[in-house]
Amino acid sequence: MNPIKAISLNLLIPLFITAVFAIVIHYTHKIPEILFDIVPYLFYGLSLLIIWVSWHFNRNRFIFVIIPLILVYMGFEYFSAKKATLLFLYASMLYPIHLLIFLVLKERGLFSFWGILKIAFFVIEIGVVLFLIYYPKEPIQGYFNIKLFAANFYPLKDLSVAIGIFVLFVMSALILFGRYLMYSTTFLSLLITFYLSLYFLKTPHATEVSLLSFAIIIFILLIRESYRLAFYDELTALPGRRALVEDMAKLGRRYSLAMCDIDFFKKFNDTYGHDTGDEVLKMVASKFSEVSGGGKAYRYGGEEFVILFPSKDSEESFVHVDALRQAIATTPFSVRNKKSTKKIFINVSAGITQNSQKDKDPFAVMKRADNALYKAKKAGRNQVIKA
Ligand code: GH3
Ligand code: MG
Ligand code: MG
Repeated sequence: MNPIKAISLNLLIPLFITAVFAIVIHYTHKIPEILFDIVPYLFYGLSLLIIWVSWHFNRNRFIFVIIPLILVYMGFEYFSAKKATLLFLYASMLYPIHLLIFLVLKERGLFSFWGILKIAFFVIEIGVVLFLIYYPKEPIQGYFNIKLFAANFYPLKDLSVAIGIFVLFVMSALILFGRYLMYSTTFLSLLITFYLSLYFLKTPHATEVSLLSFAIIIFILLIRESYRLAFYDELTALPGRRALVEDMAKLGRRYSLAMCDIDFFKKFNDTYGHDTGDEVLKMVASKFSEVSGGGKAYRYGGEEFVILFPSKDSEESFVHVDALRQAIATTPFSVRNKKSTKKIFINVSAGITQNSQKDKDPFAVMKRADNALYKAKKAGRNQVIKA
């Protein structure tokens, strides 16, 4: 299960936008009319930006999330009242499922085989909705109007509410157990925003403001995603060397630093293969991410990690690094070797130092920690040595 702290942090950011949207809707009558006039333009502008950035980052799911909204909004603007009502009916049922599908589907190039398949699927969705709007048939509409609940959710149909509950359920499971927390939490708040906007359909400006909230939520995710790409290591999900350099520039008057390295990892790769090596590296990294004492772990490169302890001397941080070393040394890691699963143990060595007046920059400190690490290796490995 994902840690509660990570879940809450990830939920907080998009849900904050959803909350602001709800507050704005509640107070629309107190907000000057002229401010709402620019909202659709902001939405269109931000949408174009999202499409452009998604395209460049190969995060195409957002193109598939934002374009239907633009189409639905244009439909509301230009269709007759009768057609718009039908559009509302079908969009309210299809879009939650559409959101879920594009959350779950893997990201591929837009013009790869799978990308084309996604485009085809999207075109079929549009075709079916347009067909149902232009050739309304009584029996079909009857199915969509089916009564499922005793309560009335007007203007929402029961079927749409049922679909919403189902999608909410699946997304919650993905948030609790899935890998892509940043995405699942964002899509959950998109779902909530969508239903709020449907519910407040009759409130003036609610649709435009909700669309803008949608675009803002997605845009914030794209910014966070680009930050993650720049500062986090892909394999281990730990902050990488760039993040380390940035954070070292922010250090205070006193800090300590540990340089850590997995013992005999080359031999491990030779025995079990590079892929298994990667798996073990991930498991060791997740141990590093849980280092105590306010330390922050970075993947420095290969099988080397750095831990920064802001405002701690090496005496204090030694305790935490040694506890981590011990935790790793006593944790059995399961590796699958051809047919059987085997439990193996991994050791790490570390060198610790603290900054002094003489140090030109944090890199001088790092050099000392590296020398201490070298001593730990020389002294037989699986130990922490203070410089
Ligand atoms: P020691 O540090 O105890 O002296 O021995 P070592 O075998 O760990 O030494 P060295 O630092 O020379 O070797 C590091 C090895 O780590 C080389 C490479 O095979 C492996 N390695 C580095 N990065 C990765 C990675 O991302 N994935 C995998 N699977 N292996 C990696
Ligand atoms: Mg090494
Ligand atoms: Mg090593």
